[in-house]
Amino acid sequence: MTENRSLQSIRGTRDLLPGETEAWDVVEGIIREVMGIYQYREIRTPLFEDTQLFTRGIGEHTDIVNKEMYTFEDQGGRSLTLRPEGTASVVRSWLQHRLGAQGTVNKLYYLGPMFRQEAPQKGRARQFHQFGAEVIGTDAPEADAEIILLVLAVLDALGLETWALHIGSLGCRECRPGYRDILVEFLAGVESLLCEECKERMKTNPLRILDCKNEGCRLATAKAPSHLDHLDEGCQIHFNAVQALLSDRGIPFTVDPRLVRGLDYYERTTFEVLSPDLGAQDAICGGGRYDGLAQMIGGSDRVPGVGFAAGIERIMLALEAAGVELDFEPICDVALVHIGEAARQRLFALCDILRRAGVACTIELFDRSVKAQMREANRREALLALIVGENELKDGMVTVKNLVDGEEEQVSFEDVVSVVLEKLEKMDDEAVDEEPQDWSEEDDGSEPEPGEAA
Ligand SMILES: [Zn+2]
Ligand SMILES: [Zn+2]
Repeated sequence: MTENRSLQSIRGTRDLLPGETEAWDVVEGIIREVMGIYQYREIRTPLFEDTQLFTRGIGEHTDIVNKEMYTFEDQGGRSLTLRPEGTASVVRSWLQHRLGAQGTVNKLYYLGPMFRQEAPQKGRARQFHQFGAEVIGTDAPEADAEIILLVLAVLDALGLETWALHIGSLGCRECRPGYRDILVEFLAGVESLLCEECKERMKTNPLRILDCKNEGCRLATAKAPSHLDHLDEGCQIHFNAVQALLSDRGIPFTVDPRLVRGLDYYERTTFEVLSPDLGAQDAICGGGRYDGLAQMIGGSDRVPGVGFAAGIERIMLALEAAGVELDFEPICDVALVHIGEAARQRLFALCDILRRAGVACTIELFDRSVKAQMREANRREALLALIVGENELKDGMVTVKNLVDGEEEQVSFEDVVSVVLEKLEKMDDEAVDEEPQDWSEEDDGSEPEPGEAA
């Protein structure tokens, strides 16, 4: 016998319910608007890719690739992976479709779910959502600065005023190996103090030791040499230029000598935007330059690029913590209220006609009392109620009740659509501060005579 247990969403995933979806829509709408203003165009890549895209792009010895990827074999024995981040896919797509062929700089953005098998905790889900942007085709420091200004513009448009920007530079393929040797030499002297994982990283990815959250490791590496002190001339000039552009714009930032980021593809600029409102999970955005990534995933040449990714769940938490109200209202213009089966049928057709005319309508699908239907209209904050009972049916009329001021009038079925459109337009123009009122208490429920309700 199969067990008939009730099925639940997978741990670390979450349903977005009505009430939340509208808030997300507002946030996504603002993101898209700002992206448009900055002239970034949307790209949508598949949710799963060849596993190699990520092992080669993100790096074999990163936490993401080692511990967190959802990798599976499909029916044809191919190894596929649910995308754990967006940049590798965007660069793969850029190469595949030769988006750089016109010799122009490409500015792209994306928005959607990513997948990592992390320990679920507040603000960290296994299916989580990110938006991000990439400038591909230029190594100009203006691109790095613009990417940072872009994410700050999004946060500003969302109403998140409190943030901290940390920036750093990881050097490039020319100067990083030299720094790496110096770092390894330092780390060898404190190796006994490092956690087991970092001892392993000594062999595979020593830079990431600077990023370890373990308290012992942080203490042991407090005096570690910083890559900022070992940049070559080109990287130093580039980093100075990015800082100057941000300063010119009056953007406060902290130069963070330990900013490593958990992905291997970054070179030169790295940055994080932190939200003090979030406590321990405080990074809401991270990014940097990745001039070598295209080649790591099979491109024939190095392609300069810079981008960021920001977590929407984290931003939602930050907005909540900051007390920012997202302005959305589920719209219901008109409630159709009937008394009796015949009226209900008549209103059912009228309801669809109004909806086709762009009017948001709700109609009673049970036979509840007028009072209950009016209460529903009030709950939905409808502006008008169209009421039809036996009398109205007989006369071919509809009672149109303004739910804001309580006034009502009789309108013929022929005219009702145009009258409703006119009234709604007028109410919209007046942009009334007044809320619709609850008129359901006016009706005592006995012998409903809607035409006389007022
Ligand atoms: Zn360099
Ligand atoms: Zn460690």
